[in-house]
Amino acid sequence: MRFQNQTAIVTGAGRGIGHAIALRLAGEGARVACVSRTEANAQKTADEINGARPDAARAYAVDVADHAAVQQTAEQILGEFDRVDILVNNAGVTRDGLLMRMSADDWDTVLNTNLKGAFNFTQAVLRPMIRQRGGRIINITSVIGLIGNAGQANYAASKAGLIGFTKSIAREVASRGICVNAIAPGLIETDMTSVLSEEIRKTILGKIPLGSLGKPDDIASAVAFLASAEARYITGQVLCVDGGMVM
Ligand code: NAP
Repeated sequence: MRFQNQTAIVTGAGRGIGHAIALRLAGEGARVACVSRTEANAQKTADEINGARPDAARAYAVDVADHAAVQQTAEQILGEFDRVDILVNNAGVTRDGLLMRMSADDWDTVLNTNLKGAFNFTQAVLRPMIRQRGGRIINITSVIGLIGNAGQANYAASKAGLIGFTKSIAREVASRGICVNAIAPGLIETDMTSVLSEEIRKTILGKIPLGSLGKPDDIASAVAFLASAEARYITGQVLCVDGGMVM
């Protein structure tokens, strides 16, 4: 129970990796604010947590890209939970396409969700974390932010931006006892990757030394470590959880 008496906010907690992270942190004692765009998805995760630990979770529906709405949601969370110890910026989307044909809308949607979304939530929790003299912020980036990918210029830019953001904020708040790190998943089995063709999966699999795709729980384990007391001397880092794809 590494997170007893702690409160965590997990964005994109309605499905996939965020769902696994919310369950893992709650399983180790945290109270969890489950944030998602779709109310029903956030509620489903919160219900699952509350089924095992009554009143340990609440659901919040908000578009992370909406600065004013995120401020409001963060205030509501702080009002209801009193404190925030862990923020996991996990919400993310893809709108793939070659740059020649990429619409400005697809560029904006990905940058606004994946990068501005993290800015919005981080800014909203920083003051309370500073007042508490501690906290953990974990940003879910991607190996694509490190190596790029044809057809994902918007996604790669958002995830590389998130790495720069992570390192800058880590420097800004280290003296306040707040650690800020990023996790770069490789290919993880979720809705986001279920759309990939068998051929693309096979090609990617050939590039993974450990020989299999990852599971949402693999990312949840890394988040739990970085959020825990054992990681107190780690900040500004990018941890690849990718079966060895990028080394
Ligand atoms: P997913 O299954 O598609 O789930 C995405 C989650 O993010 C959903 O809960 C979704 O909310 C939420 N979300 C999307 N846009 C949002 C917005 N504007 N406001 C609030 N919530 C929003 O994706 P995933 O595979 O779990 O990915 C989670 C994170 O890991 C993403 O940042 C992704 O880029 C990163 N990642 C994934 C992989 C992979 O292989 N899967 C690899 C590298 C990095 P709703 O459910 O309400 O729609």
